[in-house]
Amino acid sequence: MAEQVTNYQCPSCMGPLHFEGASGRLECEYCGSSFSVAEIEALYGEKDRQAAQTPGETGDHPENASGADTDWGEDAGNMRAYTCPSCGAELICDATTAATACPYCGNPAVVPGQFGGTLRPEYVIPFKLSKEEAVTALRRHYRGKPFLPKTFTDENHILEIKGVYVPFWMFDGTAQGSARYEATRSRLYRRGDEEITETRHYDVYRAGSVTFERLPVDASSKMPDDYMDSIEPYDYSELKPFSTGYLPGFLADKYDVTVEQCRERAELRCQNSLEEALRGTVEGYETCLRRDGTARVRHGKVSYALLPVWMLSTKWKGKNYLFAMNGQTGRLVGDLPVSWGKFWGLFAAIFVPLSILGIVISCMMV
Ligand SMILES: [Zn+2]
Ligand SMILES: [Zn+2]
Repeated sequence: MAEQVTNYQCPSCMGPLHFEGASGRLECEYCGSSFSVAEIEALYGEKDRQAAQTPGETGDHPENASGADTDWGEDAGNMRAYTCPSCGAELICDATTAATACPYCGNPAVVPGQFGGTLRPEYVIPFKLSKEEAVTALRRHYRGKPFLPKTFTDENHILEIKGVYVPFWMFDGTAQGSARYEATRSRLYRRGDEEITETRHYDVYRAGSVTFERLPVDASSKMPDDYMDSIEPYDYSELKPFSTGYLPGFLADKYDVTVEQCRERAELRCQNSLEEALRGTVEGYETCLRRDGTARVRHGKVSYALLPVWMLSTKWKGKNYLFAMNGQTGRLVGDLPVSWGKFWGLFAAIFVPLSILGIVISCMMV
């Protein structure tokens, strides 16, 4: 028999509980009671701890649930089946799913064991912004975009909004290196009838180091990397010790990209920051060209954290558009279509009067 997911239920009325960003508490939609994360953790934490201790098939991924049946073909190995304790329905999830909602009764469901034992994240930044705030942010994103087709703003329908706790690895370390630049400074002066440009060439050398703390790299293969990089930064002053109490009402995945696989991306970002920092100190030249350089990254501690992201998927003229919003700060990124009609219209408005002016001037010259 498939293992049960945990429905976090209101201790007063047994209604479903969900974490509310504005209050930072778990709230019951039925009787209006609210509970602190610590109170709910005390009630439900034991079940998760027991699930984590159940020996798994592999050391790294305790697979507590039964595999989904063979109807799923090749995907069956990546799917898990659970039962919903509220309505008894069978829930088929990805092997990485840690929190979801029952598609039949809508109850928030937390999959036990996914974040237990060695898989337990160290930190979480709880959701602060609500679904409504994500929708408002998307509308605001459309505004002030002159090349956006008008029908897009009117007809672009939001298909799906998901609040997801995305797994991240956070890297500590130091990048140390140097760079050599070829720089120039010129001056212009007259000698008699001649105009002389004197250019001095400089060989500029810089060396230094930058330390980085908790540089985040998303550890979910489902999430587009460029979106995840673009919605940073997160405010780490609100980093909390992890508790499953923050999950009800949201989706959550455990990592499926390892620390080793993420290290390269982290290293590249550190090297780029070092390069920018060194380049920033080369001042007072008119041109500056980087010739060569070195960079060595020393890694420190790596922490595992869940960070909040609203994913919004919209559809317009048969095409899907994806947006991601930082669930803590509201920073939103995504692609918008460009109306080429509007673009050329604006271009013509600037360009045409100038060319008319040009014709007038050339006529006067005749
Ligand atoms: Zn209640
Ligand atoms: Zn259910």
